[in-house]
Amino acid sequence: MARVCFEQVTKQYENGFVAVKNLNFEVAEGEFLVLVGPSGCGKTTSLRMLAGLESVSSGNIYIGDRNVNNISSKDRNIAMVFQSYALYPHMSVFDNMAFSLELQGYSRAETKERVQAAAQQLGIEQLLDRKPKQLSGGQRQRVAVGRAIVRKPTVFLMDEPLSNLDAKLRTQARVELSKLHKDLATTFIYVTHDQVEAMTMGTRIAVLNQGILQQIDTPQNLYENP
Ligand code: ADP
Ligand code: ADP
Repeated sequence: MARVCFEQVTKQYENGFVAVKNLNFEVAEGEFLVLVGPSGCGKTTSLRMLAGLESVSSGNIYIGDRNVNNISSKDRNIAMVFQSYALYPHMSVFDNMAFSLELQGYSRAETKERVQAAAQQLGIEQLLDRKPKQLSGGQRQRVAVGRAIVRKPTVFLMDEPLSNLDAKLRTQARVELSKLHKDLATTFIYVTHDQVEAMTMGTRIAVLNQGILQQIDTPQNLYENP
């Protein structure tokens, strides 16, 4: 697990649009930070910069004491779960979960052990031979999480990972992700536009609006001083 720090981070896209302005915040090791705000406020942009998928226009982002600009993709043990899950359709659940480990050069035995451990933790052992299209929405969501946790990431990023689930599954998945956070003891950064999700899941909540950080505090303090 690692600390994450945004220092005066601004993102201006090529068309001139400033999506994130002078963002300053720190996420402690092992914390569960929720980034919340309306559609278009810059949540995904912030995550993508942290994951190295998008450049930073000015300012700095640190993971531990290293600037994200100077971390090679091999050393950048960040996992990200997308709203769409982005599972590889032609691969089995096992292969979807094993893929990034194989890329990193893990042995077949270590890969198998990690995939099986993660599958057990998420209750999807019986699905390892299936293809994504043979899974329910809730099962796909678990596979997407499984694919991320096999790498034992130092930072675990999630971008609206529950928005494709129905209300009942979403409530259940919230509880499961909170438990997973406790079990993994990894730094979680979770993006949502759903206030309830933010208030129930985060140890702290960062509220973004039009690319500007409005507030960052515990759910309790935000509830009492909205
Ligand atoms: P959120 O995740 O909060 O919905 P995003 O970070 O996806 O917000 O987007 C923030 C703003 O930046 C939006 O207004 C969006 O239209 C704009 N934006 C996102 N990607 C690009 C891009 N590649 N070029 C220009 N503008 C973009
Ligand atoms: P992004 O960074 O936006 O996820 P990618 O190029 O990684 O873009 O993936 C785009 C889509 O193509 C994703 O939905 C992903 O599931 C799929 N995809 C990427 N690589 C593969 C692959 N090797 N085999 C099958 N599908 C893939």
